[in-house]
Amino acid sequence: MQLPMVIDGKEVHAAFTFTVNNPATGMPAGEAPNGEVEHLDAAVAAAKAAFPAWSALSDEERKGYCDAVVAKIGEVGDEIAPILTQEQGKPLNGIGSRFEMQGAAGWAAYTSSLSLPMKVLQDDNEMKVEMHRKPIGVVGSITPWNWPVLIAIWHIIPALRTGNTVVLKPSPYTPLSTLRLVRHLNDVLPAGVLNVISCDDITSNLGAAMSEHPDIGKIIFTGSIDTGKKVMMSGAETMKRLTLELSGNDAGIVLPDVDPAEIAEGLFWGCFINLGQTCAALKRLYVHEDVYDAVCEALVAFARNIPMGDGMDEESILGPVNNKAQFDKVARLVEESKDHGRVLLGGAPGEGLFYPITIIADLNNGDPLVDEEQFGPAIPIIKYSDIDDAVAAANDSQTGLGGSVWSKDIEAAKAIAARLECGTVWINSHGGVHPHVPFGGVKKSGIGVEFGEEGLKEYTDIQVVIS
Ligand code: NAD
Repeated sequence: MQLPMVIDGKEVHAAFTFTVNNPATGMPAGEAPNGEVEHLDAAVAAAKAAFPAWSALSDEERKGYCDAVVAKIGEVGDEIAPILTQEQGKPLNGIGSRFEMQGAAGWAAYTSSLSLPMKVLQDDNEMKVEMHRKPIGVVGSITPWNWPVLIAIWHIIPALRTGNTVVLKPSPYTPLSTLRLVRHLNDVLPAGVLNVISCDDITSNLGAAMSEHPDIGKIIFTGSIDTGKKVMMSGAETMKRLTLELSGNDAGIVLPDVDPAEIAEGLFWGCFINLGQTCAALKRLYVHEDVYDAVCEALVAFARNIPMGDGMDEESILGPVNNKAQFDKVARLVEESKDHGRVLLGGAPGEGLFYPITIIADLNNGDPLVDEEQFGPAIPIIKYSDIDDAVAAANDSQTGLGGSVWSKDIEAAKAIAARLECGTVWINSHGGVHPHVPFGGVKKSGIGVEFGEEGLKEYTDIQVVIS
């Protein structure tokens, strides 16, 4: 499979392609164009040229286009899901690629229904003050490899809905599903409104070039903290608007009143959704000593029954790690930590990029698997006796994306939630995001929020008109 970029509504090939590997087999999943700066310039020029007409559409007209995009995502879901599975590794089944395609359609539908009408701030004998939300212009979207289609939709739809035009660049590990999707979406959008480019990040790094491009007004970036910092620094010269959704090292705190068997499934999926390759997955688990052994046992018992394999196999519920660098990181963190604790499950690499679900008890802050974001299938469990110590340990991180508290006493859990330094706290679950609920991180987990009306606002500048 060799897929083109889409620039100004047309399919564009680069002089060279790069191979995208299927992490389940190690075999090629397809070829993507290794775009150059000239392709970025062409895509930005097309988006810039499309902007005046697109932003001048009425709100209803733009909603009509976004609704057509929603319908198109629904139509092509079954075609794109296997492409996504073969480049990302996540199974077709379970919380995998079909789920991701359905989520993308649902998210787009809700976001399309939102609008940001003009607000009158004052209207009296003295003056009339109107506050308008205006599109920024060309939005550059840079996406990661863990939820490539869903995150692209999270970026694209609010940008388009508010009247911006878009240049999208997927991760070199997972460009194929995005290239295919944007090709389809161009069937229902005017030329130039949504463009996609791709590159290998080795011989060509268009993400870096986008961050400093003079004709891009905003970057929406989802990825690592290190790259987020680079985007921020490169964007300073042109004073780009930024939304940065970066890494997390989310803590979950289990209180002594839980029923371990009851919470095991929620804890498991909190930790291991998408094999743990999720920004807001549960990455450190603090459990009270009274229920510690029982929670460890219940989690291990649940984890043993989850089938892992090639995602194209309908039986698989979890797949391989997406790429070698990520695999090596998980292996290193487990290796550096396992002698400090007790390996309850897994603990050593499998074949190829398959890494078994790994649960290590008796670790502490200071152990690498606790301190660093693993972004993979290994969870450290930490015993605590004093809730103040657990809260302090949870907050002892430079990141602050999400957190969770597990208890039968919702009010007690909420009181602890208020003490956690993070953008979202879940009670008795972890990691669920919703199209109407703002989502973002504090500290180094990012700047700004996505989703809902608050997320939509991030794609606009305010203009006040006083008469
Ligand atoms: P990454 O930072 O390596 O790459 C993200 C994107 O940035 C890719 O498209 C990449 O090609 C591009 N890029 C590379 N160099 C660049 C540069 N110099 N300037 C601009 N862009 C550049 O991240 P990743 O490994 O793809 O994703 C995993 C990370 O993303 C994890 O740390 C995870 O926590 C984070 N993440 C965060 C969220 C969130 O919503 N907060 C969601 C998903 C993933």
